[in-house]
Amino acid sequence: MDHLPIFLNLKNARALVVGNGTIAARKADLLLRAGCTLAVLAPELGDELSTLADSYSFEHKTGDLSADDLTGCVVVFGCSQDDAINQQLYDLATSAGILVNVSDKTEHCSFIMPAVVDRTPLLIAISSGGTSPLLVRTLKARFETTIPAAYGRLAEFAGSYRDKIKAMVPNLTRRRRFWESMISGPVAEHLFSAQVDEASTLMDSLLKEAAKDGDKPPAGEVYLVGTGPGDPDLLTFRALRLMQQADVVLYDRLIGDGILNLVRRDAERIYVGKLPDNHSVPQEEIGKMLIRLAQDGKRVLRLKGGDPFVFGRGGEEIEALSENGVAFQVIPGVTAAVGCASYAGIPLTHRDHAQGCVFVTGHEKDGKLNLNWESLIQPRQTVVVYMGLSSMAAITGGFIEHGADPTTPAAVIENGTRAGQRVITGTLKSLPGKSEEADIKSPALIIVGSVVTLREKLSWFAEKT
Ligand code: SAH
Repeated sequence: MDHLPIFLNLKNARALVVGNGTIAARKADLLLRAGCTLAVLAPELGDELSTLADSYSFEHKTGDLSADDLTGCVVVFGCSQDDAINQQLYDLATSAGILVNVSDKTEHCSFIMPAVVDRTPLLIAISSGGTSPLLVRTLKARFETTIPAAYGRLAEFAGSYRDKIKAMVPNLTRRRRFWESMISGPVAEHLFSAQVDEASTLMDSLLKEAAKDGDKPPAGEVYLVGTGPGDPDLLTFRALRLMQQADVVLYDRLIGDGILNLVRRDAERIYVGKLPDNHSVPQEEIGKMLIRLAQDGKRVLRLKGGDPFVFGRGGEEIEALSENGVAFQVIPGVTAAVGCASYAGIPLTHRDHAQGCVFVTGHEKDGKLNLNWESLIQPRQTVVVYMGLSSMAAITGGFIEHGADPTTPAAVIENGTRAGQRVITGTLKSLPGKSEEADIKSPALIIVGSVVTLREKLSWFAEKT
């Protein structure tokens, strides 16, 4: 993060705007609406500042800028057309430790101003850190049209109930659930149609109900969510919805930041990742953690790369949950084979190449591959090998040893669907060498079959979209 977003309480705080054009007027307007005691320093007020003076009172200072003008100020804005004055303001403010912002001069700003969607008391501030004002404008327009004006009313109403709810529903988790159902339920609907009395009546009766067990945690639940192979765009709507309402999240190394960032900000995060040959948290321990957290009343999000039921040990995790009477939901995800294949331009089946497709694991047990070679080496069939990078030579060698043509096309896809995806194609014979040469790293997936040859024709489309 390049900046810390904060909302300043500037009620009755002193502020100074230097300048008299449109930008100065816009800053003055914002400061006055935030309740500042404002002074504007300029030889004379421009049209817009004069209009502003009809509705608000602020001091108009003339004369040369001096250190005295900044005395007691919390924040100052340089909007003068004269760069030298802005520079002087910046120097004075910096030496006095006062927040300063000079329009269009990032290097002379101790803070930047976001674009604001104002549904007071609800405020949305947007910034691109100065990189793309157009993007900010586009986003602001989107928010302005999609967030009803009544959200301000909803926020105000919620604020008026805060202390009461805290007293009547002391358990934090239960209280959070109450707020969630209030914000997306019939109370909010009443407020959106300006029926404030009806909203209050309903709120009071719901609150009385919630207060009955107000000090006990509500029932917890586990969401076993498949997140796909990495690109956050491949999440399902259901996955996203549950990610946004979880209290705690358990994740491992296959889950990228792009996806973790979509989990509710204040959810507790627990890393339970396994590094190759270094099982940091044993599976059994993960199962116990899921149960304990759910029994504490938490909504527990267990994120799984790809699909939970495809080489994801999802079955084992829910078995333990069901034995302990913990409620759970399983949300499917795009499995690595499917995601990687599309992003690499390799159709897993194709009328002219393969009528079927098999997914197998290349994970060695006690240093041995335990694959049913006969079923893998079949005509017109694609074989996808998960977890096969470290044993690639043994896998491709196994195919050849058991009768496959060494020139059978094969590919390895590293970091499929993510930024930095790499695809190496070759044959059963050449792939291990090529992969080693390219220093392919995990996570990587191997695809064997003549469908690999289609990549040449299709990858342009796949990788551009
Ligand atoms: N449940 C997951 C698979 C977990 S096993 C799923 O349905 O996809 C882990 C293996 O999946 C890795 O060793 C690798 O072979 C494959 N894999 C997962 N994500 C991948 C990615 N982004 N690119 C390439 N392979 C991936």
